[in-house]
Amino acid sequence: MDTAQKKSYWLPCLNCDKTTDVKIHEDTVLINFPLYCPHCEQEILVNVVQRKIARAEPKE
Ligand SMILES: [Zn+2]
Repeated sequence: MDTAQKKSYWLPCLNCDKTTDVKIHEDTVLINFPLYCPHCEQEILVNVVQRKIARAEPKE
């Protein structure tokens, strides 16, 4: 079993590309996560899989 501490990364904002206050690990999975950016003061719905962040499609 791997006991090494997991690396963590700050999620970037998809609007302004600056770092948000949300931290993930390399194996973190987020679906339809409301990511708040303190720089734009906006919330963006995102999916995060294997450190790749993409804008979530809003469901109607
Ligand atoms: Zn932003």
